[in-house]
Amino acid sequence: MQQAIIMDGQSLSQKIAQDCAEKLAGLNNPEIVLATVLIGDYAPSRLYVNLKMRLAKKAGLTPRLVELSADISNDQVEDILLSLAGDNQVHGILLQLPLPEHLDTNRLLEMIPPEKDVDGMTIQSMGRLIKGEVGMVPCTPLGVMRFIKEYNITTEGRTAVVIGRSYLVGIPQMLLLSKQGIDASVTLCHSKTEAIEDICRNADIIVAAAGINGLIGKSAVKPGAAIFDVGITQVDGKIIGDVIYDEVKEIAGAITPMPGGTGPMTVASLIENTIKAAEMQGAIEGNSLEL
Ligand code: NAD
Repeated sequence: MQQAIIMDGQSLSQKIAQDCAEKLAGLNNPEIVLATVLIGDYAPSRLYVNLKMRLAKKAGLTPRLVELSADISNDQVEDILLSLAGDNQVHGILLQLPLPEHLDTNRLLEMIPPEKDVDGMTIQSMGRLIKGEVGMVPCTPLGVMRFIKEYNITTEGRTAVVIGRSYLVGIPQMLLLSKQGIDASVTLCHSKTEAIEDICRNADIIVAAAGINGLIGKSAVKPGAAIFDVGITQVDGKIIGDVIYDEVKEIAGAITPMPGGTGPMTVASLIENTIKAAEMQGAIEGNSLEL
């Protein structure tokens, strides 16, 4: 029985933070500020923000938390984002989503200038990604690309399937896998796709980001394929991915666990994006621009 390589997001994310701290120490510890705007008291958002701030600190960055009450107006948030945008001491701005319903998420995201958009969620960032220009890339698909690099997964000429077509994960993942230099041929699947199993069975790489527990089992996986599990569902308080890990790991060539795979790498990508932001703003010298 083949056993897959387990792509360990926990240790890779710690290594990325460590490398970042060493890099900043070598530059005499410049203060690189990552400002996170957290609105309201949605518990999962607070949990994610805490994880992000903890890793940022470990990486030698200066996290700054801007906490706002759930009933704040759109104009007030706009003013706060514009003030962070104009503040030379702030290098990265993260607007933690989802926002309370009365706020206009798309409009507010666009207050973040592209060089500070460490979540890669603005139209400018997405446009740059489409055109292959230097810019910020959403953290979860960037984390998958980091795994691919770290574990030497061959992409050129290979077949990839991305499941999910969101602006946050699926679409940027498709763009990243198919861009020049990575050169995979990508099929994008979504909730209306028929015979997903048949499509997946031919894939060398699968990124499952639907949030459907048990979507990808052994019968949908080509032997030796690299499997990235992004989707998250909670069952009886337990975090479960889209991939049936125990059976798929017997046939895959490499697989991310859930938890401990793509999640920590999403946070690590935020660190990498913040360093890239500081470089784009000329606050530090470096060569992360091609990440
Ligand atoms: P979303 O709800 O915006 O998108 C889900 C996508 O899955 C949609 O495009 C939909 O068409 C597709 N889909 C739904 N049912 C499907 C089915 N039966 N077959 C195929 N496709 C189907 O969600 P999102 O923001 O893209 O996040 C996707 C999942 O990834 C969620 O579970 C989310 O919690 C998780 N997530 C994980 C991380 C991480 O770090 N691991 C980060 C972000 C999101």
